[in-house]
Amino acid sequence: MQTVLSINGISKSYGRIQALKQVSFDVPKGSVFGILGPNGSGKTTMLGIVLDVLQANSGGFTWFGQPSSADTRKKIGSLLETSNFYHYLSAVDNLHITQAISGRGTAADIDVALEIVKLTERKKSKFNTYSLGMKQRLAIGAALLGNPEVLVFDEPTNGLDPVGIAEIRELIKELAKQGKTIIMASHLLDEVEKVCTHVAILKRGELITAGAVDEVLKNEDIVEVGAADM
Ligand code: ATP
Repeated sequence: MQTVLSINGISKSYGRIQALKQVSFDVPKGSVFGILGPNGSGKTTMLGIVLDVLQANSGGFTWFGQPSSADTRKKIGSLLETSNFYHYLSAVDNLHITQAISGRGTAADIDVALEIVKLTERKKSKFNTYSLGMKQRLAIGAALLGNPEVLVFDEPTNGLDPVGIAEIRELIKELAKQGKTIIMASHLLDEVEKVCTHVAILKRGELITAGAVDEVLKNEDIVEVGAADM
């Protein structure tokens, strides 16, 4: 089994708040890997560190067995970078701008990305006519530019209505079928059970456990530890 991301003893504090305490886990290639935990457990902090937006105080991580670099970053798409769309421009124009600014992929990737996120028919509609679910699908389309091997999503279904939630979950499963590795933060146990193959459970910055979903979540003690707040 190949490892895409290896996290080794990461700790991170914001002043006196310790957001992550010596967290280690590995993300296998081809997995849909959930980082599960209640609000404030350190999920966003962990994603920020592995995307080089934040710096850990100690510990480290490798992508594809290498230190993070421009080369490794090219293989990673994320929603954190791409949520600023122009409201009065069409979806396709927004992706052209994202592509030009980020330098990820080429203009030819844009129609492919729109097709994958099922927005081809609405690609000429202005962004401000989109539902929240469509906006989120467009953000995922932007993350797909350059055909990255890994996608990192922070709570991708947050704030969506039930239809939007179902569509995003389905899209994540389809991307996994196409061979992408997906790393997603979630505070919903039910979502991780439905969508993810693997999970790391965080509570108050500590790793409770990590592994295959069917192994980890059949352990009732562990589910109870988390379920009290999730
Ligand atoms: P949420 O789902 O609410 O985003 P989370 O699991 O992603 O939660 P983090 O956002 O990583 O958790 O926060 C972990 C802890 O660090 C929390 O106690 C939070 O209040 C604190 N924290 C996060 N960012 C900052 C910051 N910039 N300054 C100070 N404290 C912070």
